[in-house]
This record gives sequence, structure tokens and C-alpha cells, in this order.
Amino acid sequence: MSAEELSKLSLRDTMVTTRAGAARLRTNPPQTPQESPTSSPISPTPSLIESTNGHIYDISTFDDELRRRAKIGLVKDDNNIRMRFCRETDDGAFFFNLDDDITIKVEEGRVPKCSCGNVQNEKACKHIFWFIGQLSSVLPTNQTIQLAGDGSSVKNTHPAEVLKMRSLQAFADHFHWVVEGEDLPDTDELIDEVANMMSCFEPNGLLPAEFKSEDTRELSEQSRMFRELRPIVIQHAIRYPAFFMQLQELCSPEFQVKVFFEKINKRIDEAFNALDEYIERGPTNHRTPSLDVVSCAARLEGLVEKIEEYREDSLVSNAGERRDDTEIERLAALAYVRMLEEVTSRNNDAYANSPWVTTEPPSDPMRNNLFVRLIGPASEENGFFVLDKLQDMAPHVVRHHGVDLGEIENRVRNTPLTPPAYLSVLRSLIQESRKRAASQSGGNSPKRTMQ
Ligand SMILES: [Zn+2]
Repeated sequence: MSAEELSKLSLRDTMVTTRAGAARLRTNPPQTPQESPTSSPISPTPSLIESTNGHIYDISTFDDELRRRAKIGLVKDDNNIRMRFCRETDDGAFFFNLDDDITIKVEEGRVPKCSCGNVQNEKACKHIFWFIGQLSSVLPTNQTIQLAGDGSSVKNTHPAEVLKMRSLQAFADHFHWVVEGEDLPDTDELIDEVANMMSCFEPNGLLPAEFKSEDTRELSEQSRMFRELRPIVIQHAIRYPAFFMQLQELCSPEFQVKVFFEKINKRIDEAFNALDEYIERGPTNHRTPSLDVVSCAARLEGLVEKIEEYREDSLVSNAGERRDDTEIERLAALAYVRMLEEVTSRNNDAYANSPWVTTEPPSDPMRNNLFVRLIGPASEENGFFVLDKLQDMAPHVVRHHGVDLGEIENRVRNTPLTPPAYLSVLRSLIQESRKRAASQSGGNSPKRTMQ
């Protein structure tokens, strides 16, 4: 049920369905708050009070103390009453956990109870009035709302009945309440998730795993300060589940994936740019970061590992279920194919034409040729740079890169420096993805019943 529908919810229709409701049924024309003739002349509070969102409550039967509580709960904006989470038990009772460890219990046929200890002689406390105010705020504003002094009715309907009419979840959706059990992860998951979300905004572009790492040796001052924010935000998120839900809305899993791969792609670019800088300027005199062939290869292998860690973490949720990983797989494949394109284009002595000659560049291809460094040792034992990761992906993800992989195949086929095993893995990867494509477009889906 949408918030819009809920806002149209009229509880008036059900008003006479309760016995108490029929007995007390009376209507009040809309009116502005004013001193009612029935109220005590010394009462500091009028008999009709108006909430900040324009609802008018009739509290003419209340004594001064009860009026004071009603006013705090219903009208006062800064009453510091906030919902933490709520739940419904199997036997139909509702519990509302508020800030400061206050719990309200709402059960049909009984006066609502509050743990604050101020409910005496069946007179509601400010928390219960606040809660009743929340429930009744979905009513139209043009009718005065009758309140029972013990908090046992909203327009003559018991609050438990109101909740059951539209379900606790519908109210929770409308008010952004958190329903315990359904919406909330356990504390460990929550702590991890807050760190993942915060890492999206890490000032030095740290990846989630790096942001969560205990190693702070190489952090900038800004990064250190940002890290100190983490426990504060976590503490707040644990204390206010609704705040956590807001964070989740703001920083969705899709957004987190997008940011992760933006950072990865930036680092891939930086690695190749740094190699170019080294080739151009040699081991010294760098204006921008520089990496020689060996370091650049190590950097790229490190990035492959980071992508794999991320895939691993995302593929399996804590519940052990496979999550929807399509976007992660798509972006991971894209990053891998980019890396492979670049590496296979760099099958040469990187330093052959370097203008710096004062230092003798290495003559071993394992130290001067990025292609040889990364792809040369390929074997079952050493792994197949990037290809073994692509092999692990769904064929439809790889198929998307068929054209690029075809070009890469052309390139590696024409050099004796490609280990035959690497070429063979690449070919079978391409064929496998094409085969699957053909069988899918041919309508041979195993799901279809052949007749
Ligand atoms: Zn209370």
C-alpha cells in the first residue's frame, strides 16, 4: 500500500463498528482551536489542540496533567520522542520501541501500556499520546479527533484495531518506521554495511575492503578523520534503525557497485598512465606517479585480486544465498576486458624507444615487456591472467565482449610469445559464449517443454 493510499485512509467508516464507538459517537464540525465552554477557566491549555500538521484533538474531558501530557505528545515538535523500531507478535500484540528504551505495548481490548512508568490510573503518558497522534495523523484534517484519556482509542477505534485494519507494515512504510526482523539486518551485518556505504565517499577513494582494514599507515589526514567518523555513524545507525534505513535508501547497493567500479577503472587508468610516465622519463624526474613494467604488472594483478574479492563478497550474502549479481559481473567483465586489451597491445620492449638512456634499461622481456610479464607464465598452475576470471563468469556476460575478445585473439595468435595454453583458454572462452548464444537464440531453452 502506497503512502498516498494510506493518506486517504479514513478510519471514520469503522467508527461505529465498535461498541464503545457507537456509544460515544458524536461529530464535531471543523473549528479552530479556542477555549471551550466546558474547560476549566484556569486551564492553561485549550480544550482543542492543533498538531503541527493541522489535526485538531478534543481534550475537553482531560484534567490539567493529562492535557499537559497530550500537548507534549501531540503538539510539541521537539518532544524528543522517536520511533526506533516496532514489531507485531504472533498473538497479535504490537510493541513500539521508542528512544530512551521506552516501549509501548498495544493490545486489543486493553489500555495501551508504556514502560516509562507514568501511566497511572489509566491515564496515558506523553509517549502514548505521541503514538496515538502518529496513527491519527493519516485522518483527514477537517474533523476534530476525539481522544480517550487512557490512550485507548483513535476516533473511538482501538489503536490495535487501527493497526490491524491496514497492517503494521503499511503504517511502517508510511511513517518510515522500521519493523524489527523484516527490515533490519543483524548488528554485524549492519556494521559492515555502514562501512560499505561510507566507503563510497571516502576522500582518498579507498575501496570498501581498504576502508574496513585496520591498516592506517598510509592514510592521509583527511582519510584518518573520515575513518574516525565510522564508529560514530555506526553507533547512530544501531541506535536509530530508521537512520540506517535512510542511509540505505541514499546509498543503495546499485550506487555502491557503481562507485566501486569507478574507483577500479580509475586505478586501471592510473596504472597504465604511470607506466607511460616511466617509459617517457625513466626512473627519476617524475611529475606524476610512475611505475616500471614489473611494478605496473604487480599493480594490475593487485587490481584483479580486489575485483575478485568484491565479486566474492557480493555473490554470496551472509544468508548463503546468491544475490542478484548481474551489474557486478557486467562491470567486472568490462574492467577485465579493458585490462586485457591494453596488456595485449603492449607486447613489446617498453623501453626500446625511451629517451632516457643514462640508466641501462632491463633487457629481459620479463622485465621490459608487460605482455610477457603478465601472460608469458600462463599455465594451469600459474593461472591465466584475467581469462580465468572471465571463464568463471556466466557466458552471457562474456558474450557481450565477443568483438573485443575476437580482436584480442587475433593479436595474441600472431605472436610466438603467447603460451599455447593461454591461446587455447581464450578460444574456448569465446566459443563457449557463442555456443550458449546460439542455443539460446535457437529456442533450445531447457525450460521449454518440447512437444
Ligand atoms: Zn510513556
